[in-house]
Amino acid sequence: MYETTIYLVGTDAMPLTQFESALRPLARDRISKGRLPRKVRPPLWGGNGTGQLCALCDKTIPPSEVELEVEALVNGTLRTLRFHVLCESAWQLECARDDYLKPHL
Ligand SMILES: [Zn+2]
Repeated sequence: MYETTIYLVGTDAMPLTQFESALRPLARDRISKGRLPRKVRPPLWGGNGTGQLCALCDKTIPPSEVELEVEALVNGTLRTLRFHVLCESAWQLECARDDYLKPHL
């Protein structure tokens, strides 16, 4: 079993258990359905939210929270995805896990 110890900055709003139990399965599900890319790209930009929807949890990212923008190919189309900081971390972790679980040919 692959275990990772995660240290995130600014996770006061959500206990790590909730992060593990809610966001990571959601990220896995979206990756498997092609709604989120499998390959992590580093965020292009981060700043205050602009009231747009998060690509993972579908909740608005308000100006009081940090939004990360990632440009990625989704179903062959280059799109700008926006994430909460925690959601972006969950996506990254699931991408790493996905890579790890793939057979090494
Ligand atoms: Zn989110």
